Amino acid sequence: MDTFLGNDGLKQRLSTALAKGQLSHCYLLTGPVGSGKRTLAKYLAAAMQCTGSSRPCLQCPQCRKVLGGVHPDLITVDDPEKKIIPVKLVRDACADLYIRPNEGQKKIYLFPRAQDLNPQGQNTLLKCIEEPPAYGVFLLLAEHAEQLLPTIRSRCVELRLSPLPEALLRQELTRRYPNAGPESIRAAMERSGGYLGKAVTALEEAGDLLPQSKALAEALCQNSPGALLRVTAPMEKLKREQLLPILQQWQVLLAAALRCQCGQPALYPECARLAQKCSAAALLSDTEALRQAMELCEANVGTAHICGLLATRL
Ligand SMILES: [Zn+2]
Repeated sequence: MDTFLGNDGLKQRLSTALAKGQLSHCYLLTGPVGSGKRTLAKYLAAAMQCTGSSRPCLQCPQCRKVLGGVHPDLITVDDPEKKIIPVKLVRDACADLYIRPNEGQKKIYLFPRAQDLNPQGQNTLLKCIEEPPAYGVFLLLAEHAEQLLPTIRSRCVELRLSPLPEALLRQELTRRYPNAGPESIRAAMERSGGYLGKAVTALEEAGDLLPQSKALAEALCQNSPGALLRVTAPMEKLKREQLLPILQQWQVLLAAALRCQCGQPALYPECARLAQKCSAAALLSDTEALRQAMELCEANVGTAHICGLLATRL
């Protein structure tokens, strides 16, 4: 369990239950998107199937199969294409529950978004979590416990995921993204609410600023047509597929500067400066110019023409 970051109290509870052989047959893992519900569910499932000495050992064949998502006795009940989880899937899982495990000690049913079971689905589930065979385990994941019927909740042990302490989150992000600057890490942390998964998404969406984006921010802050021309002129030689990602990042940058004006934390330090130096009207008009440039780019208009247009419109 140590591999799972933070949530020390929760890990302690689980380790004690594991050591005493008192794990519950039904856990409800709650927390927002990106809080680690799926990761914890995987470790918990590995611990239940593990044949090593310190469970989960993450090394034995049982652990590896769970972590690799190929364990035959870890069954995911979901249809990502459907907004509501079809009741039939729940019914099938309940029927399958009475077939003994293939190779594991337990047969584990994972509901990655239990909140998307309708009342009928939840009532069907309720019947099989009431009195499952000794090897039957249910791991229900939901954003909030209140999204499930009280009758289900009363049969589950709730594990509520907590945000990570700031220092731990920063350390983990720096380890995973050694090339991200401290500013990007800080911005991702601010957007994450302390949840690792959210911070990772924020970092990956943001990426580091391209040199052209930094130069654009500088030119807009100076309100200097000459500086702007020095940014756009070299871009005229780029191919469309090279130009598009730059324009996309410019759009992210301007949108983030606008959010910054509304009091949101700065995604990049450049956003804070833009928010300070440019009016909202100017940022909106630049956003519109960019939108048109991107349309032209997608309509196969030459990059020289698009960059020329941007130089006059921004
Ligand atoms: Zn193991």
